[in-house]
Amino acid sequence: MCITAHPDDEAGGFGGTLRLYREKGMETCVVCLTPGQAATNRGGAKSDDELAAMRRKEFAASCEILKVNKGIVLDYPDGKLHRQDLYRVVCDLTQHIRDFRPHVLMTFGPEGGVTGHTDHSMAGVFASLAFQWAGRENRFPDQLANGRAPHRAQKLYYSTSNFAIPGRPPVTPPPATAIIEIGEHLETKIAAFKAHTSQSPLWKMFEENIRRRGTCELFHLAASAKVGTLERETDLFAGITADS
Ligand SMILES: [Zn+2]
Repeated sequence: MCITAHPDDEAGGFGGTLRLYREKGMETCVVCLTPGQAATNRGGAKSDDELAAMRRKEFAASCEILKVNKGIVLDYPDGKLHRQDLYRVVCDLTQHIRDFRPHVLMTFGPEGGVTGHTDHSMAGVFASLAFQWAGRENRFPDQLANGRAPHRAQKLYYSTSNFAIPGRPPVTPPPATAIIEIGEHLETKIAAFKAHTSQSPLWKMFEENIRRRGTCELFHLAASAKVGTLERETDLFAGITADS
C-alpha cells in the first residue's frame, strides 16, 4: 500500500516499485489524500471541482498503467493538509489499512520528498501514525465492528532520493536503506505520469528528472515489526511473513 497526497505522486517515487511488485504477484493499493484541485496546471478546468473530477480520472488511468489493484482518492483539500484535523485523517487512513491489510506501507518522509511539499510531509506524518495505530485495538475501536480487525503492517518505508531539485529550498532526506531496481518499469512510470494530462506542462521536467535518477527507486526503512539492526535491502518484502 502506498499513501500519497496528490494524483501523480504515485508515479514519481513509487511507480516503478508498485508495478514491479504487482508483477511479482503482490496486491497493490494507492490511497491519495487529495484530488489535487489546487494545482497550478489546470488542464482548462473552470473550477476546483472540475479539476478534481478530471484528476480523479487521470489517477485512475495512471493506476491502470501501474496495474494497481485498488486506487482510492480521498477528498481532503489540496495544499491544506497541514491545516486538517490530524486525528480525523489518521482515523481515515487507519481504516483503509485495516481494510486492505498490507504487509508493506510506502509513503513520504516528514521532509516531504524531493520537492519538500507540505502536503507530502503531512501525508507521510498521517500515514506513519496510521501504520502504527492500525495494529492496536485501543485506537479507533469503533472501526472494529462487523468483522474488521486491527492490522499490523510489517514494514514502513519512506520514498527518498539521492538528488535535489535545483533552485528549491533545501530538504534533508532520510538515508536510502533499500534500493529497488525497477528496470524497464522506468518507462512504465513515465507513461503513468503522462496519464495525468492536466499536468502536461510538467511532463518534460518530470521525465528529465526521472531519467537522471535512472532505474532505481530509493526507500528508507522507517519502521519494522522485526526488531534488529539495519541491513541494506534490495527487496521491500525481504523478511516479510505471509500470514500476518
Ligand atoms: Zn504531490
